[in-house]
Amino acid sequence: MIDFAQTVKQQADIVKVIEGYIRLRKAGSTNYSGLCPFHKEKSPSFSVHAVRQFYHCFGCGVSGDVFSFVGKIENVTFPEAVRIVAGKCGIPLPKREFSSPEQAAEARQRAKLLELHETATAWFEEQLRGPEGAVAREYLAGRGLSPEGIKAFRIGYAPDSFNALRDRLSAMADNETLRASGLFASKEQGDGSLGPIYDRFRKRVMFPIANESGRVIAFTARTLETGDKAGAKYINSPETPLYSKGQVLFNLDKARTAIRKMEFALLVEGQMDCISVFLRGIQNVIATSGTAFTEQQVALLRRHTAQVVVNFDPDAAGSNAAEKSIALLTEEGFTIKIVTLDGGLDPDRYIRERGVEAYMQALRSARRQSDYLIERARQSFPGASSEQKVKAMNFLLPHIRRMPEKLARDQFAADAAQKLGIDSAVLREELRQAALRRRDHIEARATSLTEVERVLLRALAITDPADERARRLAVEALAQQPAWFEHLGTVAAMQALARRQANDPMEAVEDPAQRALLAEALLAETKPPEEGEVQSAIQEIQERAIENRQRDLRTLIAEAERRADFAELALLTQQKLELDRALRHLHNQKPPER
Ligand SMILES: [Zn+2]
Repeated sequence: MIDFAQTVKQQADIVKVIEGYIRLRKAGSTNYSGLCPFHKEKSPSFSVHAVRQFYHCFGCGVSGDVFSFVGKIENVTFPEAVRIVAGKCGIPLPKREFSSPEQAAEARQRAKLLELHETATAWFEEQLRGPEGAVAREYLAGRGLSPEGIKAFRIGYAPDSFNALRDRLSAMADNETLRASGLFASKEQGDGSLGPIYDRFRKRVMFPIANESGRVIAFTARTLETGDKAGAKYINSPETPLYSKGQVLFNLDKARTAIRKMEFALLVEGQMDCISVFLRGIQNVIATSGTAFTEQQVALLRRHTAQVVVNFDPDAAGSNAAEKSIALLTEEGFTIKIVTLDGGLDPDRYIRERGVEAYMQALRSARRQSDYLIERARQSFPGASSEQKVKAMNFLLPHIRRMPEKLARDQFAADAAQKLGIDSAVLREELRQAALRRRDHIEARATSLTEVERVLLRALAITDPADERARRLAVEALAQQPAWFEHLGTVAAMQALARRQANDPMEAVEDPAQRALLAEALLAETKPPEEGEVQSAIQEIQERAIENRQRDLRTLIAEAERRADFAELALLTQQKLELDRALRHLHNQKPPER
């Protein structure tokens, strides 16, 4: 495994792999930066070094190589990460190896569950095309779905049977795995044990839910029955080892490329809305599936964009789920615009009745969230009485406080005051306070590195044998004159680098703060330092050490004079003279200023 990992690491380009997950911008000749996917932030503190093949976040301190990135972001173990990266680079896998039997069992189960879902999807598609699928085909045609659209989203039909799917899948997996798939249900027996399994989805149109790689992991099923027998209009797969509702955004697998290209995501509520809009060429669309956004979903989206245009059903715009989603996105610093479609239509009907051009036009005229909210406040609390104005303001204040950026809050508060016609000094003060309330998050970035430290860190991090002499200079100075380096903030990183056995310098430094400083030095590097540079850096360190010692001596001498301790004074003065001479000597050695 380790040998194979090395091969993969040599062939993988960390920049390309990371770009598959988040947006990166070129920040220097060999480094890239972007928003960290592992913590919340508004300005990029996440860097990737193209040559040294590591990433580092100055915000939360995570760092590592391509495998650690994939492991973290996909939440998988090292062997799985190696396999994923190998897959991305088209490197064939060796036979499977796992570090523990539990991991092996888990991976086997996940693979089996994916296989079951794939087979079920194909089978549902087949049923939709068959004679029993006629009602479903009619329903889908009525919703304006063409056969191509049905195929693209792999929509299917679950027939009216308790055992048809079970019979289809039973030879593929044991009973326990079939239960774990969520495709089946069972009744609890009198003795508390679970009864035999039967098909969970019956007489329903099946919409597959895919993970970000496009593999089907769950289903949403819409009933075709009406009346008492129908049950819930939509039912979803339960939580399974593959599927956690709060961690999936519907259609993100298909929409991600368009979201990045267009630099915003269109957010609709229903899966049907999403499919309908997507199939008409607006491909940056995703759906919440009617429930409020979770933090994981926000994090998922942030990897691709921080701008969202929200188009919820007009009658649902005030609904709890919609409001909560918008609130969470606001808190997370997203820029939000809101579309309201006239005629009270949902996106699906609007686009079918008025066409894609009219819908695009509606998207372009989306209003800023603050304008939308102020408008809502005015409609909900009409009239010019001060009582109504207070109510309107109380509606707006929490929204204002939620915005992470002070500038945005100021703007919002000023707009609200103006549009609501608030002239009372008291109310204006209240708005001003709301804008002040939240402190902007300041990204603390270590910028205490001196030029000398940068040179030495880079020298100690040299990996190319051709530059070995520069590295040796630094290693030897550190070993022979530890006192010179004592006062440096990066001495721990330097010592760790000097001792390092591993090839990767970032792996040698374990302390997160020290690693951040090393990353900062390496990310700014275009090429390793030359011997001459290292030599001058060491000399400067020495000078500074001498100057520090001189300063100490001056204090000691002053004290000795005050105490009239002449023996001590003579000793200290002697030491100071020696230091003066050493310093002069150093200065004479120094090459003329470049
Ligand atoms: Zn971070």
